[in-house]
Amino acid sequence: MRPEILNPLFRPVTALKGVGPRLAALFDRLLASGDREPVVADLLFHLPTGRIDRRTQPGIARSPQGAVVTLKVRIDRHEPQRRGSRAPYRVFASDETGEIALPFFHAKADWLERELPVDAIRYVSGKVEWFNGRPQMPHPDYIVPEEDFASLPLVEPVYPLTEGLGQKAIVRAVAAALESLPRGLPEWQDAAWLEARNWPSFTDALHCLHRLEAIEGTEAEAAARARLAYDELLANQLALALVRARLRRPSGEARLPTGEHTARITAALPFALTSSQQAAIADVAKDLAAPRRMLRLIQGDVGSGKTMVALFAMAMAAEAGGQAAMMAPTELLARQHLAAIGPLAAAAGLKAAVLTGRERGKEREAVLAGLADGSIDIVVGTHALFQGEVAFRNLTLAVVDEQHRFGVHQRLALSTKGRGTDVLVMTATPIPRTLVLGLFGDMDVSKLTEKPAGRKPIETRTIPSERLGELVARLASALDAGQKAYWVCPLVEESEESDLAAAEGRREALTQALGPRVGLVHGRMKPAEKDAAMADFREGRTRLLVATTVIEVGVDVPDATIMVIEHAERFGLAQLHQLRGRVGRGDKPSTCLLVYRPPLGLTAQARLKIMRDTEDGFLIAEEDLRLRGEGELLGTRQSGMASFRIADLSIDGDLVEAARDDARLVLATDPELTSPRGEALRTLLYLFRRDEAVRLLRSG
Ligand code: ADP
Ligand code: MG
Repeated sequence: MRPEILNPLFRPVTALKGVGPRLAALFDRLLASGDREPVVADLLFHLPTGRIDRRTQPGIARSPQGAVVTLKVRIDRHEPQRRGSRAPYRVFASDETGEIALPFFHAKADWLERELPVDAIRYVSGKVEWFNGRPQMPHPDYIVPEEDFASLPLVEPVYPLTEGLGQKAIVRAVAAALESLPRGLPEWQDAAWLEARNWPSFTDALHCLHRLEAIEGTEAEAAARARLAYDELLANQLALALVRARLRRPSGEARLPTGEHTARITAALPFALTSSQQAAIADVAKDLAAPRRMLRLIQGDVGSGKTMVALFAMAMAAEAGGQAAMMAPTELLARQHLAAIGPLAAAAGLKAAVLTGRERGKEREAVLAGLADGSIDIVVGTHALFQGEVAFRNLTLAVVDEQHRFGVHQRLALSTKGRGTDVLVMTATPIPRTLVLGLFGDMDVSKLTEKPAGRKPIETRTIPSERLGELVARLASALDAGQKAYWVCPLVEESEESDLAAAEGRREALTQALGPRVGLVHGRMKPAEKDAAMADFREGRTRLLVATTVIEVGVDVPDATIMVIEHAERFGLAQLHQLRGRVGRGDKPSTCLLVYRPPLGLTAQARLKIMRDTEDGFLIAEEDLRLRGEGELLGTRQSGMASFRIADLSIDGDLVEAARDDARLVLATDPELTSPRGEALRTLLYLFRRDEAVRLLRSG
């Protein structure tokens, strides 16, 4: 149950004075709270991005072009709009330095006559524009009589807006929200820490950032923002630490791998494992042998061979008498994983199967029966694996591939299918350290730092779209020489249909130029069609595969050596890196051609340059974080995973570390959060909607 003291902050915004249904709809859009109704706390966390300073009163003649000023003027005359004319209604006013026009478009004459009567003195505040040597202030932001000067906000916060919602409406609603901040909120931060950093209380921090007064003291503002960011990060770290502590609880079972199956897999492997792979497998073996639960992240760049590590982990789980499940983000990948590991598992005497939404009828029943009676040792699938009807005889290991596509819920669901199930998570995107901490908390990490031996570097070139013709000609001779290529189609924003149309159109054009050896795969295809298209390409019946970004994650055709990415400027860095990682997987040299449409913006230029300069996924990820901010980098906004309202992992990195240590310390001394600070921290968890973690406390 949410602490009562927070109730005022969890009322819908419509409970605020002056926020009716019309505004509510706009706030809904502005605060983007997902499926739930935005509440007062959401509004308070909607922080201004800047301020307007209206304190300058230079007089009319000395008002700089484009500047926001406040002028004390006498109203001289009205020049109403003439019927049929497009010119605005203009009011002329003056001070001792000169005359200024106040143009109004679509304004009601009687309103203007009331607000700006001739001979009256008024303060007007707004942006001044000089036009043919004459100043004007179209639609002043404020018009107030002399005696009401105090009501004119001289410093005004600027909020991110949504169409139809103006600054004033937000300012008013925020003011009401600040009013409803509960008095006597407990302090959840450590007093010494606050003092050392000179941070204000939670309530003061919000007042400081939303305040209408003084602009000086950007330092105070920075402290207030940092305080709130730290609150959010601590809530997040605490929640992750609680989930982890719960998953970590000793299973009481050491699962001792015997080496029987893994030895046979090693013998059947057509290559030697890299030393990173060996080290990661050794890490896993050690985890399994320990009586506490494994919670390990395998972090490795595209092509570093994570799937093999997963196979060894699953074989070890089987050796210890358990079953293993591997969850992939798409059906295509689940099937590909099975194709990669199935034969090796069979060679080791293990039975592997696949389970996705597509297995139906007899086939599905057979898999379900095999999982229930334990005759299937390894199952690969999509999230269908974790639905209610799937029961395992003894699931001891869950492997999650491309983790960042799954949310906290799925992660928790994993642990309910078996008792003390070990968890191995694999991420393809090399995630910067602060992000790992922010998203996963303090997991054990094994890094695959080397690529399999014999890999040739990928040559990356950028090509303006005018030279597409040349490119196709060169592609033709490469295909004639037996090479295989991917052609990734532009990402069109508007809809999946137009994406598709672009890909189909490109396929047709390329078929005309290159003959019938051109295949197509896209997200809208039926699974069977997708498989067929992939199989055709893998087995060489097609040599060029036109694709939408469905091939972004994990597709593995080792003898493909050319990657063409059309409209490369529309892709993010992480995505480009993932796409490029589809080639350079065999022993032949590979090429990546980034086709762009000029002119390029600065960010796009920077991205393409990085792609040309390096293949180092970690470098690229750091750059990506810098160029884009953390939310987009992992697509977390869409996947509903922890994303931050106030903290920004690309600038608050040191705070993440501090919050991690803080959370660890708190739970070491107060694992159930029952001390006074512990109680206060529960409030913090609710405030930032990490209450799922609080529930873990109670369920013990
Ligand atoms: P990712 O880490 O991107 O998931 P994969 O597991 O798909 O990479 O492996 C990429 C390719 O490298 C696969 O074709 C796989 O068979 C191959 N591979 C994996 N390990 C090695 C190795 N030690 N030596 C040679 N090739 C390997
Ligand atoms: Mg993979």
